[in-house]
Amino acid sequence: MSPPVVIVGASLGGLRSAEALRRCGYAGPITVFGDEPHAPYNRPPLSKDVLGGEVTHAAVAFPQRAATSDVEWRLGTRIRSADLEQRSIRTTDGEEVRYRALVVATGLRPKRLSPRTATLAGAFALRTLDDAAALRNALHPGVQVVIAGSGFVGCEVAATARQLGCEVTVVGSAELPMLGPLGSALAEDVMRRHVERGVRFRMGTHVAEALGQEAVEGVRLADGSEVACQVLVEAIGSLHNTEWLDGNDVNAAQGLRTDSAMRVLRADGSSWRDVFAVGDVARFPNAIYGDEPASIEHWNIPTETAKRASRILALQLAEDPRLDAAIAERFAPVPSFWSDQYDMSLLAYGLPALADRVELLAGKAGGDCVYGYFVGDRMVGVCGIGMRSEVLKHRDEVSRYGHVPIGEPAR
Ligand SMILES: Cc1cc2nc3c(=O)[nH]c(=O)nc-3n(C[C@H](O)[C@H](O)[C@H](O)COP(=O)(O)OP(=O)(O)OC[C@H]3O[C@@H](n4cnc5c(N)ncnc54)[C@H](O)[C@@H]3O)c2cc1C
Repeated sequence: MSPPVVIVGASLGGLRSAEALRRCGYAGPITVFGDEPHAPYNRPPLSKDVLGGEVTHAAVAFPQRAATSDVEWRLGTRIRSADLEQRSIRTTDGEEVRYRALVVATGLRPKRLSPRTATLAGAFALRTLDDAAALRNALHPGVQVVIAGSGFVGCEVAATARQLGCEVTVVGSAELPMLGPLGSALAEDVMRRHVERGVRFRMGTHVAEALGQEAVEGVRLADGSEVACQVLVEAIGSLHNTEWLDGNDVNAAQGLRTDSAMRVLRADGSSWRDVFAVGDVARFPNAIYGDEPASIEHWNIPTETAKRASRILALQLAEDPRLDAAIAERFAPVPSFWSDQYDMSLLAYGLPALADRVELLAGKAGGDCVYGYFVGDRMVGVCGIGMRSEVLKHRDEVSRYGHVPIGEPAR
């Protein structure tokens, strides 16, 4: 029997890859390795409703589909290294596993303020179910919480902690929370809604260090001031989980570089035929943005990239003559993200952070509203509070951002 297709990473990207391989007709063996002990689960609720309620696997587990019931799940097993020339990977226990093709779906892990905070009682990062369970146990009414980082995860945890009765201070280096992805008008509005509910902000600075020997007692900010707290949540960004590929001919700076078929690239730009990357770990060219490689860390991207990679891989394994045509197809997944904070539901398409101009398209600033984000006269993103159907109306326009009809000069 030929070796399996091996997927490393048992989360959204890994699960969707296995499902899509079956849907595309690949019937051979599939083995999925995941270092977490849990079957694949959904991360977004871990900073929202689930963090505010009971953190259990059942509350976030993805349904297991019949098509993947014969997939071998090697959970609680970390991959330490890979030899892409030899088509093999090695677990931390030293077991060597050979593969027919490899799908890298190892995602991200949170950056920490320092090695010390990774072991300091009361300091938390939030990526996994176990992280969320530990944080939930610490969020009691009246507890002082400092959140380092004012991006999506930081603001969502702030809202949830506040609703649980904690005293919350958010520390962010930008002028406004979520400024990059939202632009100043919407970011100001989001901040106002937090402040109305009692969240304090210390913007334009950052947490320089955590105070306390055995447990967190506070933080010192870059401006020298101190804020007392018993809980510190570090939401300061992420790192790509690619170290296990070190020593191989790949480009893993700021995400694992792939071609538009999601095949991992060598340093010289040629593609590994049998190594793919999907989800948050991948840095891939997206035709919407002129094929500029980017790592897009939104929930819909693992699914879109898994579908793309699995289709190409299934055709390749079947030696299907349609493979070259499939590889040449335009790959242009529209990034989408949402965020729930209090009664506020944000929904966005595209990459608003690229915009040089923002315009109110519908609704009222301060209430339910939709903003368009433009580069020149091209809409690069749309984002709304509420007004879902109004936001959706602009999805197609956003998807055409970089589409330049033949004969028209590229900008
Ligand atoms: C708290 C939180 C809230 C979020 N909210 C939103 C939201 O509202 N909207 C939105 O669009 N997106 C949101 N996201 C982002 C979204 O969840 C991610 O885009 C998605 O989980 C990425 O899936 P992935 O499979 O690519 O990677 P991951 O989910 O990171 O999974 C990678 C898996 O691989 C494992 N792994 C890593 N290295 C190894 C190894 N060497 N061996 C074996 N296994 C390994 C990891 O432990 C992990 O289980 C949120 C993320 C978090 C953490």
